[in-house]
Amino acid sequence: MNTSRYREQGYLEAIGNEIFHLISDLYPICRSLTGDGVRETLRVIGRLIPIAVNEIPTGTKVFDWTIPPEWNIRDAYIKNSNGERVLDFNKSNLHVVGYSGPIKAKMSLRELQEHLFTLPDKPDWIPYRTTYFREGWGFCMSHNQMGALESGQYEVCIDSSLEDGHLTYGELFLQGQTSDEVLISTHTCHPSLCNDNLSGIAVATHLARELSSLSLRYSYRFLFLPATIGPITWLCLNERRVSRIKHGLVLACVGDAGNTTYKRSRRGNAEVDRAVALVLKHSGKEYELLDFSPHGYDERQFCSPAFDLAVGCLMRTPPGRFPEYHTSADNLDLVKPLSLGDSLAKAISTLYILEHNRSFLNQNPKCEPQLGRRGIYRAFADQKDGGLQEQALLWVLNMSDGRFSLLDIAEKSGMSFETIKKAADVLLEQDLLKEDRYLSVPTETTEEVLR
Ligand code: ZN
Repeated sequence: MNTSRYREQGYLEAIGNEIFHLISDLYPICRSLTGDGVRETLRVIGRLIPIAVNEIPTGTKVFDWTIPPEWNIRDAYIKNSNGERVLDFNKSNLHVVGYSGPIKAKMSLRELQEHLFTLPDKPDWIPYRTTYFREGWGFCMSHNQMGALESGQYEVCIDSSLEDGHLTYGELFLQGQTSDEVLISTHTCHPSLCNDNLSGIAVATHLARELSSLSLRYSYRFLFLPATIGPITWLCLNERRVSRIKHGLVLACVGDAGNTTYKRSRRGNAEVDRAVALVLKHSGKEYELLDFSPHGYDERQFCSPAFDLAVGCLMRTPPGRFPEYHTSADNLDLVKPLSLGDSLAKAISTLYILEHNRSFLNQNPKCEPQLGRRGIYRAFADQKDGGLQEQALLWVLNMSDGRFSLLDIAEKSGMSFETIKKAADVLLEQDLLKEDRYLSVPTETTEEVLR
């Protein structure tokens, strides 16, 4: 694998189209915290990556929480006095408030209106609402659709069930050369909404696919979980394994046309935070870095004080900052193949840094070694970035006293990680560097990692 291909527009478009295709396949499925929609989603993902499906029974205690009843829905509608469906779940699964209990009743428009949710500011859009962890029922519709309802009697039906069942999540583990892990997590509980978060699901799936063919230094754990209760469940059931997680990324809202936004881990200056920042700095595009805050996605759980994992959140436009957020307008038009490809590329470039970040010791630390005599300058002479590469050699030689990693050197020099790594590779070949195994964590190495 060559990371330079992720800088080519054509390649980003091609892989972006594949990711978009997966989103289109998953879009019609009615997902929720639990239920068959999640299973169906994991089945579709399972065609691309060998995902393991875990089922945790209703009632299981997970830290301060309890796995809720499983929710499934077959049909829902509102019929007017002529028996016509004025609202039909089959037209959009957003029409039913998620986790609505079953109901079949006749009522006046006035009674019905207490259970209707609309967006007066966006009269054509259907809002996305849930009633998790509290009983209730309701319908969501466009404000215009509600305005067209005439007074009279209505028949309402939600053919749903809330029963003992399971919480379902997907997990894929890729064994690397060390047992130290990189965690990639994404939430699977939203129904027909694309940016939040079919984009995260689809990019994570393709990221797993790309990595699965490689020889990797770290082991990788991919989690496809319902938001909040999902990571709480995983952390509770896997508490003994948590210390293996050295770095992590939550992927959410990674498909819109906006700039990339990265929310740092709670630690703020973890290696993954610095790696993403470096990738974005050298991306040639606008971006935004946010400090950790205890609201957002599943980084809230991974970064809770007892775990405090080095897990940040990679996004484009953050939740709540795009008007289509949690509405029917977060549809296939909002996510762009090129943005999806670019988000994947940025995740891979970040992992490339984590895979290759090491510390070295200069084997000729008394003044500069004579590089010309070794033919090193000639190696770069015909390259268009030859001058930069020469400077990179000097940076790596000077800073490789065991205190600084390649990531440190890239940050200090203002150069990209690839440029610094290329220089280190040349110096290693010339025996001018030796890996500092004490400082390079983990210590196992491979030459084929992410090539
Ligand atoms: Zn959401």
